[in-house]
Amino acid sequence: SLMITDECINCDVCEPECPNNAISQGEEIYVIDPNLCTQCVGHYDEPQCQQVCPVDCIPLDPNHPETQEELHAKYLIITGKA
Ligand code: SF4
Ligand code: SF4
Repeated sequence: SLMITDECINCDVCEPECPNNAISQGEEIYVIDPNLCTQCVGHYDEPQCQQVCPVDCIPLDPNHPETQEELHAKYLIITGKA
């Protein structure tokens, strides 16, 4: 999963780009649900939120390290293909 840091300026451009609806407006900044973020595996070659964020505040979440296989398995579950 990726995460959003406190550098977030609440610009809202990432939220509609997420194919898994993993991004939402939190209490202070936007947040990513680690249960829904596949790092865009299954949908796109690159994380779409990272592509559009104007302040580059969406790094890998060190608390949720995942392999490509795990991310793909999550994609299959979320999309009902598993
Ligand atoms: Fe959504 Fe992809 Fe960003 Fe994860 S990496 S939050 S799935 S847009
Ligand atoms: Fe925050 Fe970046 Fe998303 Fe804008 S694109 S809401 S700055 S995380």
